[in-house]
Order: sequence, then C-alpha cells, then structure tokens
Amino acid sequence: MDPDVTARDTIEATDRYTVPNYARFPVAFVRGDGRRLWDEDGRVYLDMLSGLGVSSLGHGHPMLVAAVREQAGVLLHTSNLYYHRPGAMLAKQLVERTFADRVFFCNSGTEANEAAIKMARRSGQGRYEIVSAFKSFHGRTIGALAATGQPELHEGFGPMPDGFVHVPYDDVQAVERVIGPRTAAVLVEPILGESGVVVPSEGYLKAVRALCDRAGALMIVDEVQTGTGRCGRFLAHEYEEVRPDICTLAKGLAGGLPIGAVLATERVAQSMVPGTHGSTFGANPVVCSAALAVVDALFEGGVLEHCRTVGDHLGRRLADIAAQRDDVVECRGRGLMRAVELSRPAKPVVERALELGLIVNATAGTVVRMLPPLTITREEIDEGIELLERALG
Ligand code: PLP
Repeated sequence: MDPDVTARDTIEATDRYTVPNYARFPVAFVRGDGRRLWDEDGRVYLDMLSGLGVSSLGHGHPMLVAAVREQAGVLLHTSNLYYHRPGAMLAKQLVERTFADRVFFCNSGTEANEAAIKMARRSGQGRYEIVSAFKSFHGRTIGALAATGQPELHEGFGPMPDGFVHVPYDDVQAVERVIGPRTAAVLVEPILGESGVVVPSEGYLKAVRALCDRAGALMIVDEVQTGTGRCGRFLAHEYEEVRPDICTLAKGLAGGLPIGAVLATERVAQSMVPGTHGSTFGANPVVCSAALAVVDALFEGGVLEHCRTVGDHLGRRLADIAAQRDDVVECRGRGLMRAVELSRPAKPVVERALELGLIVNATAGTVVRMLPPLTITREEIDEGIELLERALG
C-alpha cells in the first residue's frame, strides 16, 4: 500500500470517476480477516453483513484462499467451448446435494434469474407469464427487473417487457387467482431479502408448489440471498420439503467471487439446446474452485450446522432487544439472515453502528439487516449485539 494514499483520495477518485449509482458510506476497506475488516485509516470493524451476504466463510478463510491461489496459478480461463475439472466437480456437487439434475453457471444473481426466466419460457412451449411477488427483488437487468415487484425500481426504465404479473407475497389465494394456462412459472423468494427479511407463513412454498402442479406451471425459487447455507440449510426451501423445478443461487456460493448458478430438473434443462443461452465468464475455473471450497466447508467442515446453532443464538439475542425496546417493532429471520424492524428510519442507526465499528445494513426504510459470515462465533455475535444496542441509543 502506498502510505501517501489516504481514504479521502480513494473516496474522491471513486466519486469522481465512477457512475454515481451507489450511495456509499465514507469508508474504504483494505483488508479482512475472519469476521473483521480494516479500513484505510487502520480502524477495525466487525462484519455482520458479508458484503451483502457474499463472504459466506468470512474473510481470508484458509480453504477458500488456498483453492483460489492454486487454481489461479494453474488455469484462469478457458471459455465454455471446452471442459474443465472445477466446473465439472462443482456441477456434480450441486446436483448431488440438491433436487437438481443439471446446473447452468453464470456470474450473478440477476443473471441466474434472467436465465431461469428464459428456461421457464422455453420449456413452457408457449407459456410466457412469470408470476412473482410485490416487494420481491430478483435483479436489475430488464427481465429480472420486470420480475422484481417494486414499481419504483422500474421508474425511468420502461417500457418493461410483457408477461410479468405481480401478486402480494405470502398470499396463496392471490397466486391462485392469476395462475393459468399462460403461466410459465411462479418465481418466489423463500424469505424476502431486500424488502426487510420477511418470512412467509409456514406452508406457503408448499401451497405455491401445489398450485404450480395443478396449473402445469414451473416453480422457480430465488435463493440468491437465502441459499448456500444462509438460513441454516443448504437451500432455504428444504425447510418446507418442496422440490422446485428451478432454483437460482449466487451471493455466498463462491465466498466472495462472482458466481450465479441455475439449478434445474432434467426436463427444464433439456429445453436449453446449444445456442439458446450462454455466458463468456460463466463457470470460470477459479470461481468454481472457490465455490467447491465453500460447499466443502458447509457440508464437511461443519459450517451449515454451526450456522444453525449461532443463528438461533442471534435470533434469541435480537428477540431480547425487541422485548426491551419500544422502538423495535419486530425481529425476524432464519439462520444467519436476520433483521430488526424499527418504528423509525434504520439508516441513522446503521451509520452510528459503522462509527462504533459494526457493519450492518439498512433496508426497506426501517429495517436493520444482518447477514454475517456463516463462520461468525457466538462471542462475535454478542459483541455485535452490544454494538447494535449502543447504536440504537
Ligand atoms: N435475487 C435476490 C433474492 C437478491 O437478493 C439479489 C440481490 O440482492 C438478486 C437476486 C440479484 O443478485 P445480484 O446482485 O448478484 O445480481
């Protein structure tokens, strides 16, 4: 690091030279270790956000670092014109550990949903409608944005493509009213992430599955945020024992490198013949090696089980806060996907937390969201809770 370059320089250069589509906090990080991050001024922070649910094994996890280093030194890229071992092994792992028969790799959650929509339409043979929920978030490209049930995010980008229908979340009757012979798929998040960690009623996913079966439509589960162990099972829909036709993954799957994955049944996968879809960078060998390390840590390294245990602890600690404070409306979540809904704006609390050295996130206006690394310890959670209480004031 050049000692003459300050955090101010980094912030000024970013603000001067990049498209101003992000509202960033005035902090520039330089290093991470475990659940800690260091900024350019040498201050240390407890990371209870993992980027945005991405750094699933925390920072500098030895297995992940070793996998990336080794693969980077051997082969960085080949393209999907050819085969390579890390891509083959990751696809095999994902198929063996889930409902899926086949996998398509891309680079982000948005891309995974975009591919899922294409797969649903193509295998639907004339069915084109995608039913999704108001307040859902599925991504920022035009197709994924059209599926995203937040009209305010569509503003200025119209016209949106046809064939997207929105219904209230956690409302089975609403799905029943719109599903029909035109429906290619119902696209649903097991827990609404961006809209404030909204957990649906028990049986919701199962009821949606039954409606899809009756109407001959596919069920797509968007597990970009809830998946890869975040909620204590590899995929959150496993809690309801439903089998979707398609499931999208991204965020934590490669522990910090860009990845997207579409898990699909054989029938859906077979509709995608050569030329129907693709990705230049999808299934990059380094990224797949990283994801293999994450999957190994989750299943063989005990991280999934750990996430359930410490996730329950975090849930109990947040419930205590909710019981003690008038300004907390509710605490919600599962595993290590948690939120506290306030009766006031969340942003000032998140800003105060950052000043105190705690990284959390404000979403849906009044919600403080926590997506810590799945490796976070009980003691670190207690430390985070103490800092959160101080930030709440
Ligand atoms: N789907 C869900 C449920 C998400 O939470 C997100 C991102 O927050 C996306 C899709 C989009 O993923 P990405 O930002 O990787 O494109």
